[in-house]
Amino acid sequence: MNANDALDLPTLTTVLAGVCDSMVASIDDFTHADQALGDGDHGLAIGRGFRAARVAITSQPRTDAGDLLGAMGLALLNSMGGASGAIYGTFFRQGGRAVVGHQQLDTGTLATFLEEGLAGVRARGKAKVGDKTIVDAMEPAALAARASTTLTLPEALVAAANAASAGLESTRAMRATLGRARALGDRSIGHVDPGALSFTFMLTELSRLVGEASRP
Ligand code: ADP
Ligand code: MG
Repeated sequence: MNANDALDLPTLTTVLAGVCDSMVASIDDFTHADQALGDGDHGLAIGRGFRAARVAITSQPRTDAGDLLGAMGLALLNSMGGASGAIYGTFFRQGGRAVVGHQQLDTGTLATFLEEGLAGVRARGKAKVGDKTIVDAMEPAALAARASTTLTLPEALVAAANAASAGLESTRAMRATLGRARALGDRSIGHVDPGALSFTFMLTELSRLVGEASRP
């Protein structure tokens, strides 16, 4: 673990607010992905959710990383709706609960957050790698973060985001077995999963913004 390049709580809050802004600015991409495989509402859900999450984390000071991430989760759960609202809400709430008491984001905290968030999502939605869902991006990201705890925080985030990207790309060839896309059967093949796309973009933006915040 590299305590040296850990993000303190105010910096983490600023970075997460920036991630929320990036998500809201990219909702058209998520809409298009969900138009190919679902009902086209994933962009609207992400827009509602991350606007609310931004308000939740910037309107009052939070006591630790768990409180901050958990507040995002509650806002996402209460505002997004649909399958992805339950999934994103569970991810941030269960992941956040696992890092209560952590005053900084370091590589160990990142790995624990991603692992426990993933465990919550898997328990809630019953998706496994290969089902063509957000889990196809989330699980490789959590594994990469755990394998990267001796690197710097920006390096660990690049590894996690790259692993999510590879997982996202792997969903293109998959036939959906869960959620709305399941009804398409073979016609679900050839498109990436919308939830995996939004999750990968979120981690990529987190990586980019932490990189900027960590530069001397
Ligand atoms: P809805 O399917 O209710 O319209 P969204 O369009 O906002 O909700 O989100 C769809 C995304 O939710 C999918 O692309 C997939 O990644 C994710 N998803 C759906 N069901 C599950 C599940 N059981 N487990 C994990 N993720 C799921
Ligand atoms: Mg949808």
